[in-house]
Amino acid sequence: MGLLDTITAALAASSSSTNRGDGRGESKGAYWCHDCEERLLDLDVEGDDPPACPACDEPMTFERSPGSTGCAC
Ligand SMILES: [Zn+2]
Repeated sequence: MGLLDTITAALAASSSSTNRGDGRGESKGAYWCHDCEERLLDLDVEGDDPPACPACDEPMTFERSPGSTGCAC
């Protein structure tokens, strides 16, 4: 049973590491402050709460990466 768990974990790890290879997981988008044009990648933000802009301290807004929606218009 332990062996099966190990194999399953190894397969899951290898199949999920085939994205761009930056080793940081997949980014879904980024947080923006449009006033300052500050940008924080979601991978750089801990948790799901929008961070405050480092320049003006206003809450930043989340925007998905283009291409992930499948809409090219
Ligand atoms: Zn700002």
